Amino acid sequence: MDVFSRKTRSWIMAQIKGKHTKPEILIRRGLHALGYRFRLHVAHLPGKPDIALPKFRTVIQVRGCFWHGHRCVRGNRLPSQNHSYWREKLSRNAARDRKNDCGLRRLGWRVVVVWECRLSSPQKVESELRRIQRLLAVP
Ligand SMILES: [Zn+2]
Repeated sequence: MDVFSRKTRSWIMAQIKGKHTKPEILIRRGLHALGYRFRLHVAHLPGKPDIALPKFRTVIQVRGCFWHGHRCVRGNRLPSQNHSYWREKLSRNAARDRKNDCGLRRLGWRVVVVWECRLSSPQKVESELRRIQRLLAVP
């Protein structure tokens, strides 16, 4: 017997599926569904950005909170072992991100950052996609 209502069940299934979906893939699928055309890992741009929309001269950086040092619950959780090693490594990652974003902006690209923690439910994914859509609507 199913103890969940159909609505709850389908939400849970979406969550479980979401666990196997990388944040970058969620955004890619969403953009595609909205009809945007983009290029992946463009080699000639600083840091080979994940997603580039040449028509909008916009790059979308999908970032994992831990690896890219987001100031959120996930991003602030440093392993207790080798604490200083991790602090160093993660701050180097963040410095590299700043440098790449800066280089992209100098070349005239708009940089939109999407954090992993903002994609933790289908509703949140949808609202991030709407945010991107609003930004792209502004020339
Ligand atoms: Zn985060």
